[in-house]
Amino acid sequence: MKDKVALVTGSTSGIGLGIARKLASKGVHVVLNGMGSPEEISNCQKGIVRDFGVEVDFSGADLSKPQEIQDMIAGVHKKFGRLDILVNNAGIQFTAPIESFPPEKWDAILAINLSALFHTIRHAIPLMQKQKFGRIINIASAHGLVASEHKAAYVAAKHGVVGLTKVVALENAQQDITCNAICPGWVLTPLVEKQIDAMAREENLTQEQAKLKLLLEKQPSGRFVNIDDLGDYVIFLCSTAGGSMTGSALSMDGGWTAQ
Ligand code: NAD
Repeated sequence: MKDKVALVTGSTSGIGLGIARKLASKGVHVVLNGMGSPEEISNCQKGIVRDFGVEVDFSGADLSKPQEIQDMIAGVHKKFGRLDILVNNAGIQFTAPIESFPPEKWDAILAINLSALFHTIRHAIPLMQKQKFGRIINIASAHGLVASEHKAAYVAAKHGVVGLTKVVALENAQQDITCNAICPGWVLTPLVEKQIDAMAREENLTQEQAKLKLLLEKQPSGRFVNIDDLGDYVIFLCSTAGGSMTGSALSMDGGWTAQ
């Protein structure tokens, strides 16, 4: 994998940053993307360079804007001349019953959690076809396979990601280009910490009680999925051994979807 080039969207935080660091640990040059203060972003970049000695670039593209996505992929191509690995990870969440779900939240979640993947992939595929190699990994969710209440937009978007993954896999099956979705259960990141905070507030629980309640409602293991383990899953899919896996929705969810 040494000297391959990866773009990981939403990699200034949480799962995306963990995946970018794992790829860098294998000698892959990485392009980070996401929101954050200039200081936070610079710390992410410098940390990867210091720890792994690969090249690290950053794109501040807002993934709700198709033109910015096009410019981001063109920028990666301009700087590195290739794009081997695309990890579509950026995502947002909002919860409410459907009758009070704000339409602008629906639009934002669909744009960032689903349409952005259509745009990154449609611009990346011609580069991968020219290189005769590509690995696309879409971070879906257990909510790409099953539903929960109050998550209409998120569940719809993540189910869409699983469908999009299958189509891209089929269209490129005869080349060394694979497209898979990883479907994690609960992972302790800022996205989930917000949901734990809300639960603690609304139900008058301590943070620890809220964490356990959130976990045990869905995840039989009673443990959060490790970001590091998700990174290893990505590395496997990018390896030669992962070459025949394509179009799959791969669970890493502590038993969530076995129920
Ligand atoms: P996070 O909030 O820690 O990170 C989200 C990242 O997306 C950040 O880097 C943020 O800046 C970026 N982002 C948000 N809006 C953006 C935009 N408009 N343009 C560009 N970047 C944007 O969340 P996380 O938990 O690490 O989630 C990462 C992915 O994993 C998401 O797709 C999420 O749905 C999925 N996921 C998370 C969990 C979990 O339990 N944490 C479980 C299953 C799936």
